[in-house]
Amino acid sequence: MMNMVMMKEKSVFAREAEGLRGKRCLVVGLASTGISVARFLKRCGAVVTGTDSKALGALPGAAELMDSGAAPHHFSSFTFSSNTDIVNGKWCGAEMVIVSPGVPRSHPLLDVARKNGAEVISDIELACRFMDCPVVAIAGTNGKSTTTTLLGAILENAGKRVFTGGNLGTPAIECAEAVLDKGIGFDAVVWEISSFHLETTRRFNPRIGVLLNITEDHLDRYKDFADYAATKFRLLENQGPADYAVLNVNDPVIAGYLKKGLAGKGKVIKFSVEGVLTEGRGALQGRDAPQGLFLRGSDIVYMNAGAEEVYPTAGFKLSGLHNIENIMAAIASARVLGINKDVILKTLSEFKGLHHRMELVRRFGGVAFVDDSKGTNVGSLVMALRGMKTPVVLIAGGRDKGGDYGVLRDLVRDKVKAMILIGEARFRIQDCLGAFTETALADSMEDAVAKACLRAAKGDTVLLCPACSSFDMFKSYKERGDVFKALVGKLQ
Ligand code: ADP
Repeated sequence: MMNMVMMKEKSVFAREAEGLRGKRCLVVGLASTGISVARFLKRCGAVVTGTDSKALGALPGAAELMDSGAAPHHFSSFTFSSNTDIVNGKWCGAEMVIVSPGVPRSHPLLDVARKNGAEVISDIELACRFMDCPVVAIAGTNGKSTTTTLLGAILENAGKRVFTGGNLGTPAIECAEAVLDKGIGFDAVVWEISSFHLETTRRFNPRIGVLLNITEDHLDRYKDFADYAATKFRLLENQGPADYAVLNVNDPVIAGYLKKGLAGKGKVIKFSVEGVLTEGRGALQGRDAPQGLFLRGSDIVYMNAGAEEVYPTAGFKLSGLHNIENIMAAIASARVLGINKDVILKTLSEFKGLHHRMELVRRFGGVAFVDDSKGTNVGSLVMALRGMKTPVVLIAGGRDKGGDYGVLRDLVRDKVKAMILIGEARFRIQDCLGAFTETALADSMEDAVAKACLRAAKGDTVLLCPACSSFDMFKSYKERGDVFKALVGKLQ
């Protein structure tokens, strides 16, 4: 049996790898994803050119590829060409262009590529062509990393050979590279997928496509919200009747697409934290939903062909309603992959979640300090505030992504006793929300924590949930969260 599996894996692999031999490929963007893609292409015998807006000297991974003539798997050349050269007319003759997620689809270079007849695809599209095992693709505005990691942990605990990565952690193509290295494949892969990946998919067809939610984000990159939502739904575009779409029907955008029949051709597994699936927003009639998940009291109920499976949430380490959604999506996917309930429950009793996502840093003087630095859009702040049971002193702001802070008005008025604003977006947030709670501006995280401490009293929560990206003041959301944590750790 194992041999048969291996042979099948090899044949899919061999066919795709064969197609790459001698192929002229251009890798656009040479950070971690692009470097992994270029290395893989080289190893398959493609002729690879890399390009980046940075100069070669500022791209250590690329320089290594250039110099790796003596590396064990060096089959062909790697050259570098500057973005500007390509845009200005020195087309490298590539037949296939692989774009990193950080490169906007409006980049002039991609126009040049298309005009020259090249196929323009994302790294996910390339990687999926090599997969001969079920691919679970997890998309949505918020919750992707948590759900991807949780599902990966469930599958690992079930003894499966699983690759977990994509937008999170290891680039997706490294899963194909691992097959190249070891000659054996995976039982399943779980990829976190961003809308950026989906802009340039063509054949990408996940066995299970999960859509957690679609709220405003990245409006600096998309024409409008409808454009962003439509890009997310490309996840399900190529699904057939044997595939599964796991959909949060409590999300009005997702429910709307489903109602209009725009959610692909796969079997739909609906989930909702709003009561049973026969009630509430995005309501679905019981018999229309033979497979689905809902919340009964504090139990998650998984319904499959009329049978109920109950998952009591009391012993779960993850907390908050938003995490119930993530857990529902992970349970649905794991059950489709045949994982039994006991393994799922055991994993949920151990899985603590990821850093910088509603992470309790410390309780000090009766005040809880929570780091939600990964809350980089308005939707994540909505969820964070909805879940708050104590008065909140909120630290928000950073680089603005064009979201509408106005939707936060009621929540801010009801739950936020004071708001400390940082970063480039602080004036816009103040204009939008300043009238609904006491507001102060801070010019550094240190200043923000100090001001938050002055306002917080016993029983309150100081919450860092910026609703913005971090790049105006920090290298990443991680650094922003770490700085916050360090400051909170030093409080006396
Ligand atoms: P992503 O990978 O999609 O950015 P994360 O799991 O890293 O998702 O979480 C990002 C932010 O969104 C965090 O602030 C987290 O608390 C919040 N969040 C997590 N899951 C959800 C969800 N299902 N709905 C809304 N917000 C969520």
